[in-house]
Amino acid sequence: MTARDTLGRPLRNLRLSVTDRCNLRCQYCMPEEDYVWLPREAILHFEEISALVEVFIGLGVDKVRLTGGEPLLRRDLPTLVRLLAAKPGLRDLAITTNAVLLADQAQALKDAGLHRVTVSLDTLKPERFAALTRRPTHAQVLEGIAAASGAGLTGTKLDTVVMRGVNDDELGDLIEFGRRVPAEVRFIEYMDVGGATRWSMDKVVSRAEILGVLGRRYGRIEPVPEPESTAPAERFRLPDGTVFGIIASTTAPFCRACDRSRLTADGMWYLCLYALTGTDLRGPLRRRASREELAALIVGRWTARTDRGAEERLAARDRGPLIQIGQLRQDPHLEMHTRGG
Ligand code: SAM
Ligand code: SF4
Ligand code: SF4
Repeated sequence: MTARDTLGRPLRNLRLSVTDRCNLRCQYCMPEEDYVWLPREAILHFEEISALVEVFIGLGVDKVRLTGGEPLLRRDLPTLVRLLAAKPGLRDLAITTNAVLLADQAQALKDAGLHRVTVSLDTLKPERFAALTRRPTHAQVLEGIAAASGAGLTGTKLDTVVMRGVNDDELGDLIEFGRRVPAEVRFIEYMDVGGATRWSMDKVVSRAEILGVLGRRYGRIEPVPEPESTAPAERFRLPDGTVFGIIASTTAPFCRACDRSRLTADGMWYLCLYALTGTDLRGPLRRRASREELAALIVGRWTARTDRGAEERLAARDRGPLIQIGQLRQDPHLEMHTRGG
């Protein structure tokens, strides 16, 4: 049975944050000096995550993406991957990572049954990486990307958040790099999500601008029609056949087709990246709620879902950061690095 929300959108895609910790401090995600972390005792154990995923699969979820924070910081992650990969009904098991620790873990993750990796890569320049992330680990990221192919992982994607004056001069070079990996590059518009406390509209490079820049370098760009897709990326083809994606969440959001929800490492479930409140699943789970009770709770929330966060933001006048720092400190669940991107 697939649960559907008020707009007919199915519950299909679960982003599972396995930790709120991160080993980078990307300007667009964690620009502050210090953060309030989730209490350790609240973090779900692998068995708890596995039990919840089974309930979600029973309700129509067939795609799970591990994320964070930085998911590779979670100890023994391949053990969780093995538990999830064994579940019938899960068609797609992927991870989004900054790849700093991927060189060491790629083979174990592949062996455990991981299907695909998406690596966040914003620049090919080590000094720029250090300025953008406040950590000098660019070489490790490149080693991690190479290790993913070496381990036999296919379908790798490279996600780039494009920021004006930061990395918008590297779009073509990133596509060239992606060809060599091989990996499909996806350009993401800078979003005003929780945690992006330095966001402003003038730093957003829009889909139209991205297409303009690439068109001047490569010539005619064709859209790749995918009428059935619920993926956030629209795909395009260069004259030589190379395909890349654009996730235009800020200037042309795709809420109408959104089948995603997010579970934080401490078991809070959010129906939208922009939602201010979520549903606590850890409490009922630890109080030994039955599968049926958990399923009823989840279905009840999903069938009432009206969220269209990014579309509502589009309508906002004088758009600035979504959430101020004081509110983020009071509730770290509002942070992108807690909620899982
Ligand atoms: N640490 C992992 C990584 O960076 O791949 C996984 C978690 S991270 C929160 C997931 C994704 O969110 C990354 O691709 C990151 O670029 C994206 N992200 C974070 N803040 C963003 C923002 N303000 N606008 C657009 N994308 C953002
Ligand atoms: Fe960067 Fe991902 Fe860490 Fe955010 S969670 S600071 S996007 S590496
Ligand atoms: Fe889905 Fe919310 Fe993102 Fe819209 S803003 S695409 S509803 S998660």
